[in-house]
Amino acid sequence: MVIYGPHTGDVSKSVSYTYGPHWKGIIGYRVIEGNDIYGHKFGGESWDVPTCLLCNEPIHQIFSFDLKDTRLKELGDRTICELPLICCLNCSVSWEPQAFKINFQNRSVDTISQNYSQKWVREEADKIRYPLPEINVKLIKMVDDDIPIDEASYYKALSSFGKEYICSLVDPLVKTIIH
Ligand SMILES: [Zn+2]
Repeated sequence: MVIYGPHTGDVSKSVSYTYGPHWKGIIGYRVIEGNDIYGHKFGGESWDVPTCLLCNEPIHQIFSFDLKDTRLKELGDRTICELPLICCLNCSVSWEPQAFKINFQNRSVDTISQNYSQKWVREEADKIRYPLPEINVKLIKMVDDDIPIDEASYYKALSSFGKEYICSLVDPLVKTIIH
């Protein structure tokens, strides 16, 4: 499984990978607030999360995706029924690649690595509290404008991102962008 980084679409690729014809025809989903037959969630505290190595706050559980949803079948197998995605929203560790180990049996996540070449921590009064409110979310098909096949469509996609949807998942390799 590959989870791409938020800035270029893939932490191993250059910024030029952000948009271009290589995205053409890709299938993906918008994550929006709402209910369907699956248990996808934004926020909550259904997994034990580690403490952030830079700011010492609990790392936010941003999403948990229900892998019974066949659209996400490439992310798991029959032994894995839910995939948590976590990230600290209170400091600069989210600006660089992070790696976590998910322990599916006891629903916990351990830190493998967090990097921070810049040390920025949100002011106490501005800190985003843990846990985030738990909200049901669902997946809907992306529209053509969500696919950044050129610079214009890239900026169009960015402008709807955060207003019309909060995350996009792209199949078959999953690209997750958290706004
Ligand atoms: Zn932090």
